[in-house]
Amino acid sequence: MPSISRLIDSAKARYWTQRGTWVYDNALLLLLKCLWSNVVPECTMASSNTVLMRLVASAYSIAQKAGMIVRRVIAEGDLGIVEKTCATDLQTKADRLAQMSICSSLARKFPKLTIIGEELVVWVDPLDGTKEYTEGLLDNVTVLIGIAYEGKAIAGVINQPYYNYEAGPDAVLGRTIWGVLGLGAFGFQLKEVPAGKHIITTTRSHSNKLVTDCVAAMNPDAVLRVGGAGNKIIQLIEGKASAYVFASPGCKKWDTCAPEVILHAVGGKLTDIHGNVLQYHKDVKHMNSAGVLATLRNYDYYASRVPESIKNALVP
Ligand code: AMP
Ligand code: MG
Ligand code: MG
Repeated sequence: MPSISRLIDSAKARYWTQRGTWVYDNALLLLLKCLWSNVVPECTMASSNTVLMRLVASAYSIAQKAGMIVRRVIAEGDLGIVEKTCATDLQTKADRLAQMSICSSLARKFPKLTIIGEELVVWVDPLDGTKEYTEGLLDNVTVLIGIAYEGKAIAGVINQPYYNYEAGPDAVLGRTIWGVLGLGAFGFQLKEVPAGKHIITTTRSHSNKLVTDCVAAMNPDAVLRVGGAGNKIIQLIEGKASAYVFASPGCKKWDTCAPEVILHAVGGKLTDIHGNVLQYHKDVKHMNSAGVLATLRNYDYYASRVPESIKNALVP
């Protein structure tokens, strides 16, 4: 049997060279077959293991298809914007169509998923960064599919439909980043912010006094205000930001599940603002009421600077 590192290299090579997702899916499946036992304990039912492996591989191509829908809606020119709760909480035709596509593909490929539904939960954000999407900040947008097992986020896929969109009309748009806990994350080059620099990334559209006070307490060298939870985690793993700080309710489990896995798979940490690990079992409260604190490195530096008054204001 080929070594694990050879398999990872081969999967990465296929990612860069193949357009067809079918070939890549198979490479990914092979990888996961070899490595899944690191993540899911031996005692887990064999059938659950098989479903989990297929699920991650399918999530990759399902997220790519959703990314294509997100691009198509912009190209057609009618965003079909509706307000959900207020002017900063929007939904577009792309949110609706991508959601339908992801859910129907999952249901078609996994008709028996509910059998193990108690243990396995898939958290889907068909379009993360909707507000920015409606304003043309297209690289902020991602499609997020996260997989949780027994309440713990263990696998995730992030499709960024407009990756490369500033590279000119001939550029190939979009990329898919995926990760499995204990295996790693792929589809990007891991990079760190220069040592000693504190660059904070935070919300652009959902700010308030708690958010800005908490960011200020980090003593930042720079503050980036961008949309999307997926986008902010990409900034952390690509060396553009050192901490994602969001001291407010608003962000949901489908915003954090996939990004958390990608970050954890490369040694980072995502918690609420108190330092609590997030739970993803099916009955959990959707809202991350106590905000988000995430870093690739030096988590303790940022956690230690969250003011007590802000912690007291955010009940988990
Ligand atoms: P942001 O950093 O503002 O893009 O937020 C990350 C994710 O959390 C996005 O999916 C937002 O829609 C969601 N979110 C954060 N705050 C709020 C809020 N106050 N109302 C609705 N959604 C929010
Ligand atoms: Mg979202
Ligand atoms: Mg969304």
